[in-house]
Amino acid sequence: MLYRTVPKTGDKLSILGFGCMRFPSKSGRVDEERAIRQIRLAIDSGVNYLDTAPAYHFGKSEQILGKALRDGYREKVRIATKLPHWEVRDASDMDRILTRQLATLGTDRIDYYLLHSMTGESWKKMRDLGVLAFLDRAKKDGRIIHAGFSFHGKLPDFKEIVDAYDWQFCQIQYNFLDENNQAGTEGLRYAAEKNLAVMVMEPLRGGNLAGPVPDEIKKIWDEAPEKRSPAEWGLRWVWDHPEVTVVLSGMNDEANIDENIRAADSALPGSLSPDDRARIDRVRDTYKRLMKVGCTGCGYCMPCPFGVDIPGCFALYNARHLFPKDRSTKFHYFGRHGGLIGDVSYAGLCRQCGKCAKACPQHLPIPQLLKDVKSEMEGGMTVIVPVLKGGLWCMNRVAKVRAFFLGGKTRD
Ligand code: SF4
Ligand code: SF4
Repeated sequence: MLYRTVPKTGDKLSILGFGCMRFPSKSGRVDEERAIRQIRLAIDSGVNYLDTAPAYHFGKSEQILGKALRDGYREKVRIATKLPHWEVRDASDMDRILTRQLATLGTDRIDYYLLHSMTGESWKKMRDLGVLAFLDRAKKDGRIIHAGFSFHGKLPDFKEIVDAYDWQFCQIQYNFLDENNQAGTEGLRYAAEKNLAVMVMEPLRGGNLAGPVPDEIKKIWDEAPEKRSPAEWGLRWVWDHPEVTVVLSGMNDEANIDENIRAADSALPGSLSPDDRARIDRVRDTYKRLMKVGCTGCGYCMPCPFGVDIPGCFALYNARHLFPKDRSTKFHYFGRHGGLIGDVSYAGLCRQCGKCAKACPQHLPIPQLLKDVKSEMEGGMTVIVPVLKGGLWCMNRVAKVRAFFLGGKTRD
């Protein structure tokens, strides 16, 4: 594991940080035991920076991380968690929330404490409520060690926040698709020039740059002399920037954790060749042409009061455009969102109330985009889903009758 240094303090952090917002799930719930095993596996392999927030997994993320850090693990790592501005109505809320977080995480201090998801608007609200005096107090009495902020707004607001306080660090969304989005490369350099450590979130755009990639993109990666997975290329692109301190990965699969840890053994700044960079430029251009919605799957827009699974609908809508030859995408959409398996959660349920769009850090016009999803993905759904449901019901009945006559055997 390689480590990089926090400029203002000399603290050495693993270049790979564990993002606790995408734990593995089992039967629709977080698989707590597996998540704890994964966190400990990462720590045993040298990861020493873990990033959580009260909002992740509807409050379960901090709890699970607290449990994972028992048995001596706490002293091996730095905990990063965040103050949710949407829960803050006055200055006393800040102390109340921090006290709750310390108890949930089972610790007497938060090593890296962030104002969560700052934009121009949320920053002004928190500043006017006296958040800087709160941070001074909490640092002085040792409840927090380093102060920072995570950011999803526009570049001028980012610079204003960087200049407003003696932050030790900040956290930005950065990946090869987002060079000019939010803080972007200019913001990264600006923060680094002011001696802030920069933690990077969404290095793979919520997994969109990893996993199975479209044929066109696979062909470009396959031309490279080094055989690397798309995820490794994406992470290495971020680590190539000397201004980056930690790259957070929302890891929830043991094989991916191993792969990321291996990559973090050798990803020095400036280690990509000019050929590598040219290849990544081609991949970026291809993604920009193919992808319809820039959703990262963060879930901040959820829950929708009318039951739309917003990130789920966007993921399948993107998949339909990224993998046009795969005819099963629409049936997956019917299955997952049309009510074939579980509750209905399709785009057509949207009543255009606009609540979700206000919460989206990517500033996506969600209600409008859902109209596009509806028109492209839901044709025939109201006929096909009842037919498929009827078919499933019949198959179920037949299986039960067979089991009755065969004495419980359903296979021969
Ligand atoms: S705009 Fe549509 S998707 Fe968004 S919260 Fe309202 S009903 Fe739900
Ligand atoms: S629509 Fe926006 S808020 Fe919702 S999951 Fe996607 S990126 Fe996140």
